[in-house]
Amino acid sequence: MKSSVAVVGAGTSGLITAKRLAELGVGTTVYDQKKTPGFPIRASGILSITGLGTLGLQYKKAMTNTLQGARLHVGKERIDIRAEKPVAYVLDRLKLNELCMEEAEDAGAKVVTNTKVDGGLLDELASNEILVGADGTVSTVARHFGFPPIGKHILTYRAEYDYRLPESDMVELFFDNSFAPGFFGWICPNSKGIAEIGIGVDSKHGNSRAWFEKFKKAPDVSEIVRSGKLIDEGASVIPVGLRRHFVDSDREILLVGDAAGQVKPTTGGGIIFGGNGARYAAGAIDSHIRHGESLMEYERKWRREFAKEMKLHSFFYSLYSSLGKKKLEVVAKAVKAAGMESFLGRYGDMDRPSVVIKRFFLRGLAK
Ligand SMILES: Cc1cc2nc3c(=O)[nH]c(=O)nc-3n(C[C@H](O)[C@H](O)[C@H](O)COP(=O)(O)OP(=O)(O)OC[C@H]3O[C@@H](n4cnc5c(N)ncnc54)[C@H](O)[C@@H]3O)c2cc1C
Repeated sequence: MKSSVAVVGAGTSGLITAKRLAELGVGTTVYDQKKTPGFPIRASGILSITGLGTLGLQYKKAMTNTLQGARLHVGKERIDIRAEKPVAYVLDRLKLNELCMEEAEDAGAKVVTNTKVDGGLLDELASNEILVGADGTVSTVARHFGFPPIGKHILTYRAEYDYRLPESDMVELFFDNSFAPGFFGWICPNSKGIAEIGIGVDSKHGNSRAWFEKFKKAPDVSEIVRSGKLIDEGASVIPVGLRRHFVDSDREILLVGDAAGQVKPTTGGGIIFGGNGARYAAGAIDSHIRHGESLMEYERKWRREFAKEMKLHSFFYSLYSSLGKKKLEVVAKAVKAAGMESFLGRYGDMDRPSVVIKRFFLRGLAK
């Protein structure tokens, strides 16, 4: 039986998997094609405080800001969801990756950078070791070993500007098909003096850069572009929808994180769901090596905890991405009229819609 693990991809999911495995005493090597995994930065880092607590990381050194809520712009309507205390942190993604790598190496995992794993090397690793594909949305491991496809992809483009936003504790989301068809645009105070602007579009609408140029002209955004100094910009991809399965127990291959599609379809946030995937994958691999238990236990445990949340995120995603501007405005008006702004400010949960729904009904019963 195979007794060591090769992880392809040194993003957060791969490194959390490696750290956990090393802590459990399993020999683990992580490979990444990049010289500096995580660089250049092509994704934001808004993470719920409760979700971060589940990952077991010393993330505080990567924190750049604290968020208390979100403002949703839906046509002419604005929905303000503000909590009484901080609900999320913004993390520097490169710093987070560095911290994850340090923690994995300190635990005893080996990290090999500058090494693309595909073709012959992939077959060689898979025949000698348990293989974990943590190689992101466009996963070579998933393609090479014939895993089912991801449902759809969102193409993103984001840029950071040296610009102080008037409100540094709220992220703003813009639902408007004229610059972000099938997703949304955002302005985020990455820190007190740095603003990030970005958009996502359903891949069927093509090039995210072209849509981003339209977003730059939007009233709230143009001032940032005009007065701020551009720090960094670039495109990336978000998977929408889980793979139908993400464990091949016969060949002892597991996918985690974006490679498995463990991403919230509403926002594209994947670090918490993928990080928990990493946690469960490591536990299942350890039990497999020690006691011969099935690697499927990983997929079962992850689905038990997150499948319901993924379904709800998918429902809300298909609602906002399919409705036109006018209908969305009607929904926004109804949401406000039902007093949902203050309810969500008090009882919202960015990761777990099922908890919010439960709280909504409990509140109704308590009245
Ligand atoms: C614009 C944008 C904004 C986002 N905002 C947020 C947010 O606010 N909060 C949040 O939680 N999530 C956010 N996400 C999602 C988040 O970035 C991903 O869910 C997360 O990065 C997934 O981590 P991962 O380790 O699974 O994959 P990745 O971070 O994609 O890491 C995969 C690694 O595998 C390596 N690799 C790939 N192929 C190979 C190969 N063949 N051989 C060797 N190495 C390989 C890559 O170099 C890379 O380092 C955002 C994403 C985007 C695009």
